[in-house]
Amino acid sequence: MQAISPQQRGNIPSLTIVVPCYNEEEVFSFCLSELKSLLENSIQAKKISAQSHILFVDDGSRDGTWSLIEQAAQADNLVHGVKLSRNRGHQIALMAGLSCVDTDICVSIDADLQDDIGCIPQMVEKYMEGNEIVYGVRADRSSDSFFKRWTANSFYKLMETMGIQQVANHADFRLLSRRALHSLLQFEEQNIYLRGMVPLLGYKTAQVFYARKERLAGESKYPFYKMLSLAIEGITSLTIKPLRFISILGAVTCFFSIIISILVIIQRFNGYVFPGWASVEISIFFLGGVQLLCLGVIGEYIGKIYMETKHRPKFFIQEKI
Ligand code: UDP
Ligand code: MG
Repeated sequence: MQAISPQQRGNIPSLTIVVPCYNEEEVFSFCLSELKSLLENSIQAKKISAQSHILFVDDGSRDGTWSLIEQAAQADNLVHGVKLSRNRGHQIALMAGLSCVDTDICVSIDADLQDDIGCIPQMVEKYMEGNEIVYGVRADRSSDSFFKRWTANSFYKLMETMGIQQVANHADFRLLSRRALHSLLQFEEQNIYLRGMVPLLGYKTAQVFYARKERLAGESKYPFYKMLSLAIEGITSLTIKPLRFISILGAVTCFFSIIISILVIIQRFNGYVFPGWASVEISIFFLGGVQLLCLGVIGEYIGKIYMETKHRPKFFIQEKI
């Protein structure tokens, strides 16, 4: 029996747009007015129901973001807000917002609207056709710096080599059905990398394509070290292949050292002694470096186990409006 799509059922879905915000007062009013007019038009066109709203998640901002959210929520029923007790980072802020969603579908999007909100009606259409997850995919990233594009491409290639299923050029702009969202919320891990977790859900998926725009104002909240830490989080939360790579590296190193030892012994019998200070020093430093690197990788996983075993709450909601 084929599943009946929401379209066939004739339901008008309710939608929550979840927007994590960290020190976003510069872009907030633009973001608010754009999202509001999108929602109002879609409600009027009966594409989404009147219960739909925007949910801003203030991720412990130090500027006036929360008071802007409060004002907007007081002025308009379409706007809801959640304030986290402190800054927990984009992924956890997003999870916090998603945990408050009680509508049929939700779309997550960044506050700077670099992702094209014009795609949201298309995402809803794809949902109506029976898809439970709709990924926003950047078909054009020319607005990103060369460095960002290069690091992102290398990262996708690395993930692919490690066999990790991930939608390339998709960040956190996506639609989830109620069922997909409930499944996602069952992941209890601390080490959150949504881009890698969502494909693990299964369900029917679709993609919509758009050109990524420049950040409207303010600075990126993802400097290089945060991007790197997200990448490490992504790898360690989805695969243990780096640990296997270390074992293979160890085996290969042992193999070569045995071959070299045999060669040295044979040459010794032929009366030749390798002059040695430099080669000994180089191999000591090289192998020392490799060992430290491997210990670092192992340590990264042990650290993750340590954090996971504590079962600490990921976030605290200080206020809801
Ligand atoms: N963000 C957040 N907490 C943080 C850092 C960022 O909630 O600790 C939000 C930020 O307000 C934005 C989104 O995450 O809505 C993505 O950040 P940004 O646009 O700065 O990242 P980029 O597009 O440069 O990768
Ligand atoms: Mg951005």
